[in-house]
Amino acid sequence: MQNLVAIVGRPNVGKSTLFNRLTQTRQAIVTEVSGTTRDRQYGKVSWNGQEFSLVDTGGWVVNSDDVMEDEINKQVRIAIDEADVILFVVDVMNGRTDLDAGVAQMLRRSGKPVVVVANKSDNFDIGHQAAEFYSFGLGDPYSVSAINGSGTGDLLDHIITLFTRDNEEEILEDIPRFAVVGRPNAGKSSIINALIGEERSIVTDIAGTTRDSIYMRYNKFGMDFYLIDTAGIRKKGKVTEDLEYFSVIRSIRVIENADVCILMLDATRGIESQDLNIFSLIQKNRKGLVVFVNKWDTVEEKNNVVIKTFENAIRQRLAPFTDFPIIFGSALTKQRILKVMDVAKEVYTNRKRKVST
Ligand code: GDP
Ligand code: GDP
Repeated sequence: MQNLVAIVGRPNVGKSTLFNRLTQTRQAIVTEVSGTTRDRQYGKVSWNGQEFSLVDTGGWVVNSDDVMEDEINKQVRIAIDEADVILFVVDVMNGRTDLDAGVAQMLRRSGKPVVVVANKSDNFDIGHQAAEFYSFGLGDPYSVSAINGSGTGDLLDHIITLFTRDNEEEILEDIPRFAVVGRPNAGKSSIINALIGEERSIVTDIAGTTRDSIYMRYNKFGMDFYLIDTAGIRKKGKVTEDLEYFSVIRSIRVIENADVCILMLDATRGIESQDLNIFSLIQKNRKGLVVFVNKWDTVEEKNNVVIKTFENAIRQRLAPFTDFPIIFGSALTKQRILKVMDVAKEVYTNRKRKVST
């Protein structure tokens, strides 16, 4: 399982600049038709042969200049819930603020590995001022300049010493791992319940997996498979999902550990930015994909023209990646939910064939 590192900090301290520096994706900020910058907040970093995932928890907030303390606290909480290591970015030019102190307190209590990053240490003299951040009680601050790159090598050296997860992929026999993903209310729990139902509570955890293993193994529909149960993960977390992008952050682990993702879209809402963000996670991790357009029971006119229009719209939004099946159905009426499993298995088999050749 890959380690996940989260960047937190108040607005304007340089979180997104640091994110770009560490992932070196400045050029990857694609401005699409929709105007979303969906690649800005999640990426992969490779350092000394170790790959890890990096997420900027502040990166999803529009108008980040006006975010309130409350919102920053939520970001910190989701980072504490989800990440293995937290980078707490502060600004040496500004010095420490009350907001910083509040974040520091939450982080201290969390017991999570935290690195204080004293950003904007553009030169040696100003880097010295980082000493004032010792008082957070979170260990040695790392002086870096996200803009010119200085100090980032030492920072990365240190980050990878804090990892507890084995980078190796868990060997889970030759059985597909499926994940149902999508934004809140898309119908994830409904389809899992419709597919697995009562059995959910009696399946056994598999032995020999990492401490917070999220796989459940099933034998149904004529196949053996693992299902990565997002509902279980959600229960574990403390943060409510009042901010939709939290569900995106929550999906990271799920997607990273799946072979094939079943992306639930809500037919009554079309594709929104959360959907694109989740799609982007799937695509960045090069996972198999099946799109399930759920709540199809609510669409009154369901002829081929309507389906084709829907399908084209989806492929257009997800372009240039168009090579995935789309299924229209309903978790409520169970329409085509078995088909999803069949198709997901096909995607799995095709991917494996491609990998082995
Ligand atoms: P965020 O709101 O925390 O994501 O902050 P940004 O990454 O958007 O940066 C806020 C401002 O600080 C921008 O104008 C950046 O150019 C600037 N900035 C970021 N890192 C550095 C740095 O290392 N040195 C200096 N001098 N400015 C920086
Ligand atoms: P989750 O947040 O993605 O797990 O979504 P839920 O499974 O909790 O579903 C959210 C809401 O959508 C609930 O009120 C469900 O009853 C409803 N819902 C889920 N699937 C369908 C469907 O296929 N058709 C209709 N009409 N409603 C659905």
